[in-house]
Amino acid sequence: MDSAPDIERLQQLIADAERPLVLTGLGFGQDVDVELNAGQSDWADHASLETLLVEPARFWSYYYAAATEISKREPSAAHIALARLQAAGVISTIIAQSADHLAAKAGASDVIEMHGNVLTATCERCNERYGLPEVGAFLEQADDGVPRCTNPGCGYPLRPSGTLWGEPLADDAVSRAWELAAKSDAFISVDSALRTIPVSLLPSVPLTRGVPLALIGRTPTQYDRYAQVVIRSAGAPIVEALAQRMLGDPASGRIAR
Ligand SMILES: [Zn+2]
Repeated sequence: MDSAPDIERLQQLIADAERPLVLTGLGFGQDVDVELNAGQSDWADHASLETLLVEPARFWSYYYAAATEISKREPSAAHIALARLQAAGVISTIIAQSADHLAAKAGASDVIEMHGNVLTATCERCNERYGLPEVGAFLEQADDGVPRCTNPGCGYPLRPSGTLWGEPLADDAVSRAWELAAKSDAFISVDSALRTIPVSLLPSVPLTRGVPLALIGRTPTQYDRYAQVVIRSAGAPIVEALAQRMLGDPASGRIAR
């Protein structure tokens, strides 16, 4: 399928806007973390608020291993392309649904992580934060399989800093995303099925103001019929092609492989 005409229309839509807002889905730039999206998945079963509260040792044995794997991922060429587009002022904020922190790792400076990220754990009593490697060390020392805060006099059980399955999204992330959606003059969704509330409602904010939508991804969405541009393919090659067209070859060697 020749997607060049579609990319050209996408490029025009973005070029005509001053504040294009970009939403990236769980699977953006890679295939491995889409399991986070599935209600019946391992992640949903093990990495849920309910499991943390009811069976914290089982929670941590699964979560620590899974989060460590996710934390080792490196940004793909598509993450880097998106960060370049932001650095050049072509797009504004990136709203990321995945918890892998890869948009920021790729160099994007303005990212809303709707689920937080998996890189830290937090003490809810004293608000101390710990990196995953520290959590791993605590787990090794813990008799009951539960990592605890090491601040003097605290010792409270830790929890992941990001949002768990079955938990509402953080208020600050949601309110900032809605605020930006209300001000955007173009909305681009990449690799998001737009099925999970509240993010699934986000495109309706620009849409009701007549702001153009572009939807890129393999999965049809409820907004397809309202969108100016729909590209039914994986987002990564489209974003990379867009950066190539709008910015040329990357000046740094970061993208070279
Ligand atoms: Zn504490």
